[in-house]
Amino acid sequence: MDKPEIIGGDAIAKANGKLCSFSMRWEIDGDYMRCRICQRPQLTSYARYPFPHDAGCMGAQAHEEHPWITFVQLLAPLWQEIGK
Ligand SMILES: [Zn+2]
Repeated sequence: MDKPEIIGGDAIAKANGKLCSFSMRWEIDGDYMRCRICQRPQLTSYARYPFPHDAGCMGAQAHEEHPWITFVQLLAPLWQEIGK
């Protein structure tokens, strides 16, 4: 049986770095995305809504407004490789 191909290259390395950085700001908890500062959740269904941080959470200024959309975009390079 052939070994599965390891995916790599610049696009994957760049995606890996962005995933690491993303996970410093956000945590995926089942079908919720949680802010690592205020711990508030957002369900996938609300991906197009601005993230509902706690009042006064620094993440409201420091983090992207739509983390689910960012997450899907971060996976695009992986999808390009795996979908081949
Ligand atoms: Zn927050």
